[in-house]
Amino acid sequence: MALKLFNTLTRSVQEFTPLDPRKQKVGMYCCGPTVYDYAHIGNWRTFVFADLVRRTLEFSGYEVSHVMNITDVEDKIIQRVREQKTTLREFTGKFEAAFLDDLKALGCRAPHVKPRATEHIPEIIALIEKLVARGVAYPAADGSVYFSIEKYRGCGACYGQLLKLNLDEMRSGERVASDEYEKESLADFALWKARVPGDGDVFWPSPFGEGRPGWHIECSAMSIKALGETFDLHLGGEDLKFPHHEDEIAQSEGATGKPFVKFWLHGAHLLVEGKKMSKSLGNFFTLRDLLARGFTGREVRYLLLTAHYRETFNFTLDGLHGAKSALLRLDECIGKLRDLAGNVTAAPDANLLEPFSAALADDLNISAAWAAVFDWRNEMNRRLAENSLHPADAAAALAAWEKVDSVLGVGVKAETEIPPEIQALADERAAAKQAKDFKRSDAIRDELKARSWVIEDTPKGTRLKKL
Ligand SMILES: [Zn+2]
Repeated sequence: MALKLFNTLTRSVQEFTPLDPRKQKVGMYCCGPTVYDYAHIGNWRTFVFADLVRRTLEFSGYEVSHVMNITDVEDKIIQRVREQKTTLREFTGKFEAAFLDDLKALGCRAPHVKPRATEHIPEIIALIEKLVARGVAYPAADGSVYFSIEKYRGCGACYGQLLKLNLDEMRSGERVASDEYEKESLADFALWKARVPGDGDVFWPSPFGEGRPGWHIECSAMSIKALGETFDLHLGGEDLKFPHHEDEIAQSEGATGKPFVKFWLHGAHLLVEGKKMSKSLGNFFTLRDLLARGFTGREVRYLLLTAHYRETFNFTLDGLHGAKSALLRLDECIGKLRDLAGNVTAAPDANLLEPFSAALADDLNISAAWAAVFDWRNEMNRRLAENSLHPADAAAALAAWEKVDSVLGVGVKAETEIPPEIQALADERAAAKQAKDFKRSDAIRDELKARSWVIEDTPKGTRLKKL
């Protein structure tokens, strides 16, 4: 089934076809974290969305090359390195490791390439030199190098491909040095920032003088290196459309003269408890904050995956409680299907797979995809209850679920999720029962319950279930 996605570049839902002449390989770049703090739940929505896109492409049979950069030099980072009197590497290393741990906790597949900006300084300098040679970038008196929007437009190029910019308001000659700036100050932006005393030890030599790269040029240099001058997909949160992504396009197309990216995908914002997240409102959560409240990465992932990526989503703690019970009900059904199927195998049941695939292909219509899963679960529960399901039916249902979960990434393999000490207690209880030591067997059952595990006796033996 043809996969359709909303392309910000054309403002329309389009059929996705890769640039690869064999229509097999897909290059996908997602703007990664700026490692100056723990990522918050709004950031995680974007990364879970990127994971959904990647898994959907893989589910559709494509071979994806997933690149996610690590921005480890940037204005905010330098400020904090200075405040904390530490080194750049030590400071960013801690938050990079935390980010990758959290990414894993959320069940996201690891990107194939994770380039760090500080390890691509020669590529960044070469790209800036190219832009200077082509006349669309210029060195300023202070030793910084800026991108000239006027010169770029003078070559017939379009600045403002992702969103309509009011270019008449642009005053030529105005410049902006900081990495983040507002729409009103649309202006030439810094590619290379000359060293200033506040930078401390964070600088590199270059033909333009000592300094460091701007944020926007980092992504152009690293994506081109990893995926080529033109590639298939570029993703990010909608707040990155301007200026970051617009600048990425200008720098890349300004240097290569070729189209940069075929499909731009943007994920929408997230509200928490109905409001914009802020520390002062008490609705600011990192993943770690949520784990400390007893939720799991899997529950957070599930909740983030319930809304369409182009819709603003209201993330709430009530929603997380709902996620917990929805997953429990799903686990319960899948556990029963596993018991019934035993070692029987079968081809995937189309009753789940077809509506699920059709929903995803329709610009990742996740609500329809979940509806297909819940209809299927209800039907399975009904048939399990009336004993009308054969082991082969259960096996076909499970085979379909495995495929579906290769996209959703919320399933657990019950067998591998039981901690060894819990399994040891269950074995001891089985031995006690065998020896008719019911007092001991009951005591172990209580002990397991205290640790949030229940033991269920089924016709095929006992089964452990997490409460
Ligand atoms: Zn970027």
